[in-house]
Amino acid sequence: MSFPVSRRAFVGGLGASGLLLGAPGILRAQQLFTAWPFTLGVAAGDPSSDGFVIWTRLAPDPLAEHGGMPIAPVAVEWEVATDERFRMVVAKGTAIARPELAHAVHVEVTGLRPGRPHFYRFMVGRERSMRGRAKTLPAAGSTVGQVRFGVAGCQAYEDGLYTAYRHMAGEDLDFIYHYGDYIYENRGAPVRFSYDGNPRPFVRQHIGQEITSLDDYRRRYAQYKLDADLQAAHAAAAWFPTFDDHEVDNNWVQDIAEDGTPPEVFRMRRAMAMQAYYEHMPFRRASFPNGSAMQIHRRAVIGDLVDLHLLDTRQFRSDQPCGDSLKAWCKDVADPKAQVLGEAQEKWLAANLGQKAARWNMVAQQVMMMPLDRKLEDVEGVSRNLDSWGGYDVPRERLFERFKGLRNVVVLTGDEHQNYAGELRTRNGTGDVAAVEFVATSISSGGDGADHRAGNDRIEAANPFLKYTNDRRGYLLCDVTPQRWQTAFRTVEKVSVPGMPVNTARIASVEHGSNALSFD
Ligand code: FE
Ligand code: CA
Repeated sequence: MSFPVSRRAFVGGLGASGLLLGAPGILRAQQLFTAWPFTLGVAAGDPSSDGFVIWTRLAPDPLAEHGGMPIAPVAVEWEVATDERFRMVVAKGTAIARPELAHAVHVEVTGLRPGRPHFYRFMVGRERSMRGRAKTLPAAGSTVGQVRFGVAGCQAYEDGLYTAYRHMAGEDLDFIYHYGDYIYENRGAPVRFSYDGNPRPFVRQHIGQEITSLDDYRRRYAQYKLDADLQAAHAAAAWFPTFDDHEVDNNWVQDIAEDGTPPEVFRMRRAMAMQAYYEHMPFRRASFPNGSAMQIHRRAVIGDLVDLHLLDTRQFRSDQPCGDSLKAWCKDVADPKAQVLGEAQEKWLAANLGQKAARWNMVAQQVMMMPLDRKLEDVEGVSRNLDSWGGYDVPRERLFERFKGLRNVVVLTGDEHQNYAGELRTRNGTGDVAAVEFVATSISSGGDGADHRAGNDRIEAANPFLKYTNDRRGYLLCDVTPQRWQTAFRTVEKVSVPGMPVNTARIASVEHGSNALSFD
């Protein structure tokens, strides 16, 4: 989709043409708010070489009905500058915050210079937001010597503090890839257990029960976004967000809920979840939800260095085989008709990879590709996580065959709440190396961790393609040059107490063309 957007044009919700400034019904009053309306922070997303999306949501009373806003559209001024004091404003305009979209605004800023940091902010009357920073991507095809970015996700609010985000905000990043589980829809049991079997108390609590209505989802996003560390990570760099399961419902795929809800009912919930997700993330208009569907597989080419393919492993996937979860390998894992990406997305990815547009192919997606034998104690033979690519042998092997000839594919993943690094080998992990995979841990999900999770020794012994595990919370820091891809596993010792420092647990790298992992 393309939209005529000029620097001076304001950008509102859909079909903004009828919403001229000063038109009846659009509030510009100075005394509109009972409190500062920018409590949920600012964000930037989907950078291109000439711009990015900037986002905010007006919510003077963020946990109250409608965020404390009147049911009326409100004009929001925005500006983008090349300096942090906004002396050199290079783009500005007015956007309409509509009550139908929780008074969120998504402005697609264009006309900026490539490969540069920019600063942005929003104003309503005399109220002014905090400042955000976002970099444009380098010009298409230009020679790029280095790119540095962060990888994060899985931020269960109840499980821990967002200390890792605070540290991430302090890295000088070109962008951040988010692999999903931005919110968790459930309400945890009163007492949880750690992986070592000990009881683990909540660090903080969700407001409300499991969320199902649009207002529930909005309030959950508001509760998460009130976190200052999360706001800092948004304000520090542009994100490429993608959803996984918990933005809607644990382990959903297509119209299939976790608990057997009828598909037509689940579709309604999914539509509300998608709307709330869109409302709270800096997405482009091309991702505007259409009922329960939302287009999040997309691509960004970073000069001649990185071809970034962002995948969607939920919306088009066939149902998890054999009733889902971690369990014994079963015959349906080898179902020849099974899909993870769905036919259209798989074709799209194949066409992108075929273009050989950059030195590296970065495949950013949600669930682990390595078909790990989980070595469950009560299972004889192979056990798998059936919600990962390990539950889908045929599409996984088909994808690895495609990666194999390229020798420059790096897969970045989340979901496991643990750090992994390994080789992606054909033939259920026994064949040729097709690519490497870095699985990022979680920001907070799972609570305080340890360097080694109980049982990991057995898993490592059973899966020779798995080269590294670490069970602390944190994020990945990737430094990519034409010769070398380096991934640092950045971890914090605890997320149950504030102010913990960040450490580098391990650094893994791949030389271009080698498909081989080495460790510092
Ligand atoms: Fe998660
Ligand atoms: Ca997940």
